[in-house]
Amino acid sequence: MTTTLRKHAVKLLAAAVAISSLATVGAAAVSTTDAPVPTAVLTSNLNSTVGNALTSDEVLTAEQALNKAKAEAEAKERAEAAAKAKAEAEAKAAAQAKQQSEQAYSALLNDPIAAKTVAYSSSLTADSVVKNNATSLGNYKLTFYCPCAICNGNDSGKTASGTYAEEGRTIAVDSSIIPLGSRVYIDGYGVFIAEDTGGAIKSNKIDVFVGSHERAYDLGVSYADVYLLA
Ligand SMILES: [Zn+2]
Repeated sequence: MTTTLRKHAVKLLAAAVAISSLATVGAAAVSTTDAPVPTAVLTSNLNSTVGNALTSDEVLTAEQALNKAKAEAEAKERAEAAAKAKAEAEAKAAAQAKQQSEQAYSALLNDPIAAKTVAYSSSLTADSVVKNNATSLGNYKLTFYCPCAICNGNDSGKTASGTYAEEGRTIAVDSSIIPLGSRVYIDGYGVFIAEDTGGAIKSNKIDVFVGSHERAYDLGVSYADVYLLA
């Protein structure tokens, strides 16, 4: 079908070329004879030439094929315009999401109170924001300790950085990897401050401070992804 239509279209084009050459011939004829060629004569010649090239059915078929091709081209143009609009909308949404993420992150960093509320929160809305804006340190082994002599060596509750340990804020780290004073995000637990160190807390280990020995014992050992906040 397509091939047949193409053949007809070619024929129609041939007819168009024939028409155009005829017009040129007609113009030349006008200039040499200095006499206007009556329209009726031209029309008659055209009809005769076209009539030899194509039957009326063929002309109709070729016109239909051309109309179809034109409609297809228009449909393609509309589809391309729609795809372009969609891509633009997506890019705009992505830019907005990025901006919101950055705003939420800077709000988190600039507001210690907000940072504290996310500690130990399982419904941590800042989760993805924090991850996107922090340095991933990898998977860490988490243990838990309290201020007692068994956990801490002494029962003063004083950390290596001179602060008094507090649940939901204090963690002990390897300070050669995580400098004391750093804000650390522990996936599933929240944001903490690296305030303490410990003899056994080396490389990818973090000791999380909790209020009682029983609680530390119950929490046992777990593993979580850790991020260093800016
Ligand atoms: Zn203890």
